[in-house]
Amino acid sequence: MVAVKIDGKAFAEAVRRDVAAHVERLQSDHSITPGLAVVLVGEDPASEVYVRNKGKQTRECGMASFEHKLEATTSEAQLLDLVTSLNADPDVHGILVQLPLPAHIDSDKVLNAIDPAKDVDGFHVSNVGLLATGQKAMVPCTPLGCLMLLRHHHGKLDGLNAVVLGRSNIVGKPMAQLLLRDNCTVTIAHSRSRDLENIVRSADIVIAAVGRPEIVTGAWIKSGATVIDVGINRVERDGRKRLVGDVHFDTAAEVAAAITPVPGGVGPMTIACLLANTLMACCRALGLPEPS
Ligand code: NDP
Repeated sequence: MVAVKIDGKAFAEAVRRDVAAHVERLQSDHSITPGLAVVLVGEDPASEVYVRNKGKQTRECGMASFEHKLEATTSEAQLLDLVTSLNADPDVHGILVQLPLPAHIDSDKVLNAIDPAKDVDGFHVSNVGLLATGQKAMVPCTPLGCLMLLRHHHGKLDGLNAVVLGRSNIVGKPMAQLLLRDNCTVTIAHSRSRDLENIVRSADIVIAAVGRPEIVTGAWIKSGATVIDVGINRVERDGRKRLVGDVHFDTAAEVAAAITPVPGGVGPMTIACLLANTLMACCRALGLPEPS
């Protein structure tokens, strides 16, 4: 292996420490506790784990965590009522509705009902538009985490060729916007892209967010590239269940200059950025200086 392993776990711990220190100052200087409300509809096992971890890490940072677990049969109107009451609650500074929602609920309608100032996931159409037009936005947590790792590793990203694999609203599109904002030359590839391998080979920075186990191998990677693997895929190998990314780590690490592992790369950054966004939403709501 020649690549440096980018330690997202350690970086996320540092982000959470900074958030906790800021929360402590808010409490001592202003008697304010930032609050995050997380709404889970139904019993998707993976979502339940994510929500539990979010609640735990929120409390560990000294913030208030409000968890709302609703039955899978909850109607769209009932969910919208809950969002309206959270929008009006002064103790709630951030609202996250865990996706995916059951099929009978229109996710876009629910996400767009969240007060954009409390939209710590950055999925409200106002925040999407603000990001796309280079204005101050609430930025989606996973791409924000990727950008933080990249900036930490590279410094300035000016002029680098970045290829984003995947064009979802949650990861691919906001990631591309963030890289563009940092002056990269950005290509977005997806399932209809032709000659994916050669597109990826042109990249100084590869962001893989497709949800296909180890689709990107070392043969696709330009020597010296930085590889950020967003994928989380549950596979069975030799009778054992394990998590792998969208990148084949061992072969990619032979040619890349730096690479994130799965697990322990992007994953921990997502919740750390959610906490940072909640803190920022709280400071903005109260007109206090924002954390840097
Ligand atoms: P989506 O399924 O919403 O999007 C996947 C994207 O990948 C689509 O744009 C799709 O193209 C593209 N794609 C699928 N197959 C191929 C292929 N064979 N070649 C090229 N492009 C392809 O997934 P998400 O964006 O939500 O998530 C992507 C991955 O990231 C998943 O593994 C997910 O678990 C993980 N993830 C990890 C997070 C973390 O915290 N680390 C957070 C969020 C997601 P098209 O649009 O044409 O269909």
